[in-house]
Amino acid sequence: MPSFVMTEKCDGCKGQDKTACMYICPHDLMILDKERMKAFNQEPEQCWECYNCVKICPQQAIEVRAYADFAPLGASVIPMRSTDSIMWTIKFRNGALKRFKFPINLRPDGVSDPYEGLPEPNFDDIKSSKLFTQA
Ligand code: SF4
Ligand code: SF4
Repeated sequence: MPSFVMTEKCDGCKGQDKTACMYICPHDLMILDKERMKAFNQEPEQCWECYNCVKICPQQAIEVRAYADFAPLGASVIPMRSTDSIMWTIKFRNGALKRFKFPINLRPDGVSDPYEGLPEPNFDDIKSSKLFTQA
């Protein structure tokens, strides 16, 4: 199910030109109703359910139905980011809560190098059946 905004929690990012959810959505789906100062997903059928808006919302006002491989049907999934970690709270249909905390990448945006620490590619290996990282 696509993202949806819990309007009672959304504060419109306090009236900034571009809200956090508008900034982060890779599909430009989030939009702010400036009269009510509430954001909403303007094209739910186009939502990739990527969770970007869910993770960035400072008010934890956005939800996406959890994927069945990590939470059972009907559970809600709410993340809370800190400077060095993200905590996921799963609330099950029976009210039970579970929390999972993970470290996050602390490097500034745009400086990650996916090939860091790996050998230079050798084009003679192009016909090898081994993967790039296999010896
Ligand atoms: S990021 Fe959250 S608080 Fe800000 S406008 Fe979007 S839903 Fe509302
Ligand atoms: S879940 Fe992803 S694609 Fe859907 S509205 Fe949020 S940021 Fe956009």
